[in-house]
Amino acid sequence: SIEISHVGKRFGDFVALDNVSVSIPSGRLTALLGPSGGGKSTLLRIIAGLEHADTGRIEIDGVDATRLPPQKRNVGFVFQHYAAFKHLSVRRNVAFGLEIRKRPKDEIDRRVDELLALVHLQQFGERLPAQLSGGQRQRMALARALAVEPTVLLLDEPFGALDAKVRKELRDWLRRLHDEVHVTTVFVTHDQAEALEVADEIVVINDGRVEQTGSPDDLYDRPANEFVMRFLGPVT
Ligand code: ATP
Ligand code: MG
Repeated sequence: SIEISHVGKRFGDFVALDNVSVSIPSGRLTALLGPSGGGKSTLLRIIAGLEHADTGRIEIDGVDATRLPPQKRNVGFVFQHYAAFKHLSVRRNVAFGLEIRKRPKDEIDRRVDELLALVHLQQFGERLPAQLSGGQRQRMALARALAVEPTVLLLDEPFGALDAKVRKELRDWLRRLHDEVHVTTVFVTHDQAEALEVADEIVVINDGRVEQTGSPDDLYDRPANEFVMRFLGPVT
């Protein structure tokens, strides 16, 4: 699990995260849900180690990660404006993390084949990222994040830039992928329907604070306060 205890983060005088404590269970798909500017990306970046909290502690699978750099946290991440290596094939993009870890070539080939199959991109390995659709590129990004077998997968609005139909396909696909791989996954969204439909657990974040944590049913049926009630429903 990911245990976040009393995490605070300021940018100058502005309080982006105000004493946030939350427990994210292992092996489940958890959504960080809330309005724009609420602190979702900041919290995700702190979990990834891309940003440091001013106060508090982050524990990942029982290890104090508060001061660990990202590469020592065993996390994979995908951000919305994902930067692929434009001059490298899809295969090489997926293989990248394994190559820098100097894994043997036959092991890399085998692993990349598995990953491309997992994200349904078997036929696209030799293409360049520019020759993929937006949804295919996001799947490539996911395969790349999964390549190094992270224990935690962090996704910041991974489908944000896509149209509604592709977005729906991808989130169904993420749900199925998660059911297959069971890696602890945290994804950020400001879309209530997306969180309610896909997530096992939802953490509602607003104004730098956690408003409520629970299953979609808990939140929908028993909102902890006015904010959660208004933010979650009615869903159209
Ligand atoms: P969105 O849904 O729009 O992506 P968010 O919930 O991800 O919003 P954050 O990106 O975490 O929000 O930002 C939380 C607050 O912190 C915002 O008010 C933002 O302006 C501020 N903030 C974030 N990063 C910085 C920074 N580097 N410098 C100053 N302020 C920042
Ligand atoms: Mg954000």
